[in-house]
Amino acid sequence: MGGRGHSFDRGFSSGVAVIDYCCAIELIILNHNVRIVRYNAHMEKVLLYYKFTSVKDPEMLRLWQKTLCHSLNLRGRIIVSVQGINGTVGGDIEDLKAYVKTTKQYPGFKDMVFKWSEGGHDNFPRMSVKVKPELVAFESYDEVQVDESGVIGGGPHLKPHQVNELVEKYGDDVVFFDGRNQYEAAVGRFKNTVVPDTRTSRDFIPELDSGKYDDLKDKKVVTYCTGGVRCELLSVMMKQRGFKEVYQMDGGIVKYGEAYGDDGLWEGNLYVFDGRMGMNFSDHAKTIGQCTHCGGATSNYENCALPACNELVLICETCKQDTEKLFHTRRCLRNSKHMVV
Ligand SMILES: [Zn+2]
Ligand SMILES: [Zn+2]
Repeated sequence: MGGRGHSFDRGFSSGVAVIDYCCAIELIILNHNVRIVRYNAHMEKVLLYYKFTSVKDPEMLRLWQKTLCHSLNLRGRIIVSVQGINGTVGGDIEDLKAYVKTTKQYPGFKDMVFKWSEGGHDNFPRMSVKVKPELVAFESYDEVQVDESGVIGGGPHLKPHQVNELVEKYGDDVVFFDGRNQYEAAVGRFKNTVVPDTRTSRDFIPELDSGKYDDLKDKKVVTYCTGGVRCELLSVMMKQRGFKEVYQMDGGIVKYGEAYGDDGLWEGNLYVFDGRMGMNFSDHAKTIGQCTHCGGATSNYENCALPACNELVLICETCKQDTEKLFHTRRCLRNSKHMVV
C-alpha cells in the first residue's frame, strides 16, 4: 500500500469534500485541517459486462472463471456459452480491477467493456458460473450466429445522442421496442415504446411470430434493454422476421440514463436485478408504475409473500401495510394459509 502516494499535499480549499477512490478514504477539509470522516478499507463495487465472441470450449472457460472469482473473493452470476460471456460480479474494488485485468487476457475478451456500478459482494448470495446454450435464454440459438467479432447480422448500435437525433429527425416514425420483460417496462420505459407481452425471455419468439407487431416492420425500430446484451440477439431475431430497419441502443438504458438522466426520452424507474429492485437516474424521475391494488403511482416491487413463489408484486407504500396484499395472487394467499394449517 505504501508506494501509492495519496497526494495529501494538494492545494485543498476550505470546505471541500474529497473522495479518493484509490484507497477509499473520504476527507473533509475544514479550515485547512484535514479530517478523515470515513475510512473504508474495503470499498466495494459491482461490475457488469458482456462480450459476444465464439468460444470453442465453454466448460474450460467456466472452470477458469470460477477459479479466478473464488481466488478474488467475488460473488455474482456469470453465464458462459459458445456465444461468449455475460456477467455481474461484486467485490472489493482492488479485486475487481485484478479480475478485469486477468479476464481481458482471454483472446476474445480484449476489448470487453466493463461497467462499474454501485453495490458489492453482498448484493449476491453466492458465486455462480454456469455454461448455457446462449447468453440470454431466448431459445434463438439455432438462428443466431456468433463469430470472433460478435453477433452476425445485428442492428447498428446507436449511442445515446444518436438515439435522440433519430427521434428529432423522424418523430413518430421511430418506435422503441422494449427487449426486457413486461414487469420491467411497467415501471420505466422510453416514450413511444412498444412493450411486448413477455414474462420470460422465452416469450419473445412467439410474440414476434404472432403478427402483433407486423405494422412496425416498415418503421424505424430502436430496441433497448438494461445494459445492451439482450438487444444484440433481439435485433437479429427481428431482422430475420422482416423488420427492415432495426437499431439497438448501445449500452442500453444504463448508458442512456448516464448521458441524459430524466431529461431525455427515458421515463421512470430502471428495474435492476439485485437487492435494490430499482433505481432512478435523478431526483426528478417520473413514477409511471401503478399499484396492483389501488392504481396509485409507485415503482415499488416486493417479492410475493409466499416463499415458494418467485413472482413480484407492484405495490404502493400504503397498500404494502396490508400483509394480505403482499401476495401476488389470491391463490398464493390461499396457499400460504394452507401452509400455516
Ligand atoms: Zn396501492
Ligand atoms: Zn405469488
